[in-house]
Amino acid sequence: MRPKFFLTLIGSTLLLLVGMALAPSQQATAKSGEINLYSYRQPFLIKPILDEFTKKTGIKVNVVYARKGMLERIKAEGKAGPADAVLTVDIGRLHDMVKANVLEPIKSAKLDKNIPSHLRHPDGLWYGLTTRARILFVSNERVKKGEITSYEDLANPKLKGRVCIRSGKHVYNISLFASIIAHTGKEGAKKWLNGLKSNLARRPQGNDRAQAKAIYQGQCDVAVANTYYFAKMAKNKKKPVQKKWAQAIRIVFPNQDDRGTHVNISGAAVVKGASNKANAVKLIEFLSGSFAQKIYADQNFEYPVKVGVPINPFVQSWGTFKADRVNLNAVAENRAAASRLVDEVRFNQAGGGS
Ligand code: FE
Repeated sequence: MRPKFFLTLIGSTLLLLVGMALAPSQQATAKSGEINLYSYRQPFLIKPILDEFTKKTGIKVNVVYARKGMLERIKAEGKAGPADAVLTVDIGRLHDMVKANVLEPIKSAKLDKNIPSHLRHPDGLWYGLTTRARILFVSNERVKKGEITSYEDLANPKLKGRVCIRSGKHVYNISLFASIIAHTGKEGAKKWLNGLKSNLARRPQGNDRAQAKAIYQGQCDVAVANTYYFAKMAKNKKKPVQKKWAQAIRIVFPNQDDRGTHVNISGAAVVKGASNKANAVKLIEFLSGSFAQKIYADQNFEYPVKVGVPINPFVQSWGTFKADRVNLNAVAENRAAASRLVDEVRFNQAGGGS
């Protein structure tokens, strides 16, 4: 008995010593419990959510805010890279990450409960956190009610010289064009894109808000944009001129009589090789929860994915709409073809103007 006790004691002491010796690296482990998040979403939207997450869980989040190059950076850093999770917009960007094999599949009952199945990857590689519709801005003055009701109308010769749009290569437009391919096939989409091109009032340029400005200035009568920009212009306190742009237009939800309006997502994913996978999952769960969902709805005027979280009243005032239910993965699979079509029809070289 005695020798055994002695050994045990030695063992305990050793363990204690080893434990002390490990203290610094244990701190490093605790520190590595911090989440490194790469975000295409902006600080005004994300910071209040992350602050609350840290307050609730004690888990610190280090954010790298980026405007471009996230996938290239993750690829360059490799599996041992610091990124644990990503926040981004558009199925296209999430799909590119899936194709590049940089995402880690995750499972979570909470995420499955909060996020409808068509807004998450079937194997848990990404999760949609908000939706946004790609709608039409039309001139209040120059477009009669019922005059323009579908994406197909954008290619109708009756709109010659009256349409504005941002670059055909922008991720939002590529996904819209990809949805057209999903519905009408490549030939149908090419014909449509050519028709749209010949209706353009000017060369594709600017961002979505710049299209509203162009309608306000009388350069065109109809444009393609995401829903939330209308609210962000109408409610803009820092740049009141944008209120005028919003006042010049109204929203048309296209294709309400057939397939519905193209809807895209913003979403999150865990990065392959994440050293803090468990905490990254906790963060994405928090982003799908009511607190964060309400901020997405009220600060950026997006549609929350979680059932029961109210849509912002201003957004609600535009009315409900029928969304295109085409599978987002099918849209994503057609993106490369959509990008080739943009090149083939020389979409971005359209228009004689600026
Ligand atoms: Fe946007």
